[in-house]
Amino acid sequence: MPLYEYYCQHCNGIFETIRPMREASLPVPCVQCNRDAPRIMSSFNAFTFRDGYPRRIPDKGTYWHMGREVKQRATRMVGWEHPELAAPKPRPRALKGDVEVQREKRLTERTGAAYRDRWGIDEHGFRTVKAKKRKPQRKTIAPG
Ligand SMILES: [Zn+2]
Repeated sequence: MPLYEYYCQHCNGIFETIRPMREASLPVPCVQCNRDAPRIMSSFNAFTFRDGYPRRIPDKGTYWHMGREVKQRATRMVGWEHPELAAPKPRPRALKGDVEVQREKRLTERTGAAYRDRWGIDEHGFRTVKAKKRKPQRKTIAPG
C-alpha cells in the first residue's frame, strides 16, 4: 500500500499514513488529536517546514527538505540542495593560475642563492669559480 500525506489543521501538522489507494483521498483521523485530516499532495512537501509552516507529526524538532529529514534549516542553498543532503564537494582542483604560481616559485627556489651556492652556479646557470675549484681532479690511470 502506498504512503500518503495528510494535513491536520488543528495541529497544523503533516503526517504520513499507509492506506489503500482507493481510500487515499478520504480524510484520516489525526495521529495526535484524532480529528479528520485531509490528504495533501506530495508537492506540498517540497520545502523545509517550520516557523509558521506545517510541521511534521511526530515532531522531533527536525526539518524537512524535499521530503527528507534534516537537522538544521537551510540558510544557504545552491539550487534547492540542502547543505546536509548535498554530496561532499570534491577537492577543488588547483587553478591554472595557481599551478603557474607554484612553477614560478620552484624556479625562483632553483635560482635562489642557496641553490646556486650548492651547485656553484650563478643566476644564469653558469658555473662559478668556486665550482671550478671544487671540480675534482680527474685521475688518469696510466697503463703500465
Ligand atoms: Zn491533529
